[in-house]
Amino acid sequence: MKALVLGGGGREHALVRALSLDPGVTDLHCAPGNPGTSELAENHVINVVDGLAVTQLAARIGAELVVIGPEAPLVAGVADALRERGIPVFGPDKEAARLEGSKGFAKEVMQAAGVPTARARLCRSPHQVAEALEEFGPPYVVKDDGLAAGKGVVVTEDRAAAERHARECGRVVVEEYLDGPEVSLFVISDGVHAVPLLPAQDFKRAYDGDQGPNTGGMGAYTPLPWAPPGLVPEVMETVVRPTLAEMARRGTRYQGLLYVGLALTAQGPRVVEFNARFGDPECQVVLDRLATPIGALLQATDTGGLSPDTRLEWRSGAAVTVVVAAENYPGDPAKGDLITGLEAAAAVEGAYVLHAGTAWSGARDLKAAGGRVLDVVGTGATLAQARERAYAAASRIELRGSFYRRDIAERAAAQSA
Ligand code: AMP
Repeated sequence: MKALVLGGGGREHALVRALSLDPGVTDLHCAPGNPGTSELAENHVINVVDGLAVTQLAARIGAELVVIGPEAPLVAGVADALRERGIPVFGPDKEAARLEGSKGFAKEVMQAAGVPTARARLCRSPHQVAEALEEFGPPYVVKDDGLAAGKGVVVTEDRAAAERHARECGRVVVEEYLDGPEVSLFVISDGVHAVPLLPAQDFKRAYDGDQGPNTGGMGAYTPLPWAPPGLVPEVMETVVRPTLAEMARRGTRYQGLLYVGLALTAQGPRVVEFNARFGDPECQVVLDRLATPIGALLQATDTGGLSPDTRLEWRSGAAVTVVVAAENYPGDPAKGDLITGLEAAAAVEGAYVLHAGTAWSGARDLKAAGGRVLDVVGTGATLAQARERAYAAASRIELRGSFYRRDIAERAAAQSA
């Protein structure tokens, strides 16, 4: 199989790596990719939200599978363009991706499907916002209705701050606060049948102890020793099945990845959000554990090849990823500084490094080129061992001003010890 991955972050490096380990994948391409993916795939410089440019590249290399990593091409209709040309694609159509692209649409679908989620109001005026804040009370949750790369959400006790965020966004969803640990569950769907991957947890705040600003994600781990047994079947039954059925009822087949962000509340699991693509960095740890060859699995979402009998194989043990971020991330991250120590990091047993925001500096050197620069993945028999290896490797990386959280998977590792 010839495969093309769209995107250039740590998630896409993880996807390229997983495809490179699949014996069925003979030819691997990435656009735009990054220096990490260039070691495993041929990188191509194109605009990945341009459906025509993507279909032309896919046709030229004879792609039998295009895997769309980030949300922007999905929302721009790149999957539609590929399907029109008969090129198998992993990723939902534009209409289906509205489950991520519009918080208001996602709420509407969840309500129609009877999916357990926070009570919410779509607000178009300051008056409606004020009423909804009054109704739900603090902590206040205000979400930009549009796509904001996970940064359009404000959760605050401060009513004035909630109102300010609403004014800045325009159309917002105001909702009830969900109290409980969060779980990310990825589901692979062909629109009719769906198969869950391992649940994972990510760390959104920039600093240890969940302090500091929200980020794209500072680390992740799987498995979750504290998750209630039966969680995954319950979510498949109460969330995924009804959501796919409701989408189908509306004439939209949901094909690709459905990311179910959950809060495990005292009343049971509640959906915090849907996304139309893998979460980054949870993708990195979940794919690390997947033993089933990934190429045919992702392709099956396009061809209706999943069935109730589809079973995935998982490696035993655990995986932890620690994100090395540039100075000042998530504000205005420093760019251009030299990165060293990658070979030493990769020499740690059971550890490897994925590139997220890196670029070549000259022919051989690497420099920081984004907020999240590298994802260090540690694997092991236990979470404690995976953590230890991830941190041993991370400590060998040198990048001026960079930082990483020291508490990724700390509590879970202690629990499962
Ligand atoms: P979203 O973009 O909807 O995932 O929101 C980003 C983050 O905000 C989530 O991962 C949660 O940590 C938090 N969040 C969103 N909605 C709620 C809610 N109703 N209650 C509590 N926290 C929330």
